[in-house]
Amino acid sequence: MIEPNLTIALPIAAAILGACLGSFLNVVAWRLPRQESVVLPPSHCPRCGTQLQWFENVPVFGWLWLRGHCRHCGAPISPRYPLVELLSAGLWVAVTMAAPTAMGPGAAPLALIGAGWVLVSWLLPLVLIDLDHLWLPEPLCRSGLLLGLLFTAGLGWIQGPELARELIGQHLLAAGLGLVGFEAVSALAQKVMGRPALGLGDAKLAALLGAWLGLIGLGVAVLLAIFAGAIIGVLGRLSGRLGRHQPFPFGPFLAAGGFAVWLGGPAPWIRILGIVS
Ligand SMILES: [Zn+2]
Repeated sequence: MIEPNLTIALPIAAAILGACLGSFLNVVAWRLPRQESVVLPPSHCPRCGTQLQWFENVPVFGWLWLRGHCRHCGAPISPRYPLVELLSAGLWVAVTMAAPTAMGPGAAPLALIGAGWVLVSWLLPLVLIDLDHLWLPEPLCRSGLLLGLLFTAGLGWIQGPELARELIGQHLLAAGLGLVGFEAVSALAQKVMGRPALGLGDAKLAALLGAWLGLIGLGVAVLLAIFAGAIIGVLGRLSGRLGRHQPFPFGPFLAAGGFAVWLGGPAPWIRILGIVS
């Protein structure tokens, strides 16, 4: 149980921290694919190079204060920045209210919240970069996978060495199967259709999710991703926004499916998928 006076303070702290981190993740998503340092130089206008002052860097409010334009040259600043900051704040708050089951039945609530914040902070830049570049950077996938195994081991250990061993074994297996399974499907699709159907990055993201969610969790996350991807794909084709063989990123669907499973465990989703199918 979390102390009652924390039940109000935690979501507020989560919203503020999440927005600040969202601001940093915007920078990561922009600079990492361009092989720029994510720390230096400080935030600046991409057109004229004017450095942002500290209050212009305040998440959401900085953008509103500037009315979405550089104060020096008037270049527009994409509304995506405040939107990602808001989204990040919302995801962090959702994590504080979640009831994850992936780390065992008796995992400490505060530690689970910390783990969820870390998971979100890895998934969000992966989604942004996949949307922009159809690419899931391997260093992010690999470090996220390792963190998932570390949290599994740590949170499992608190509940007893036996459970820790079981959880670690399961999550390792899920990570391996995620990687190999996706690569196999991708190779098969390439053979049948003569063109790649899934990026190799999707296999690495599946491995990351396996490390966090375990076997059943990963399976449900993939099912949710396929469902959502199919719906969006059909809508995209019908509305003419998506060309016949135009690739669209699967990473965001996987990440969303994984996050949905993190929030409440796989059971409620299995019930919903059971009703749908
Ligand atoms: Zn400027």
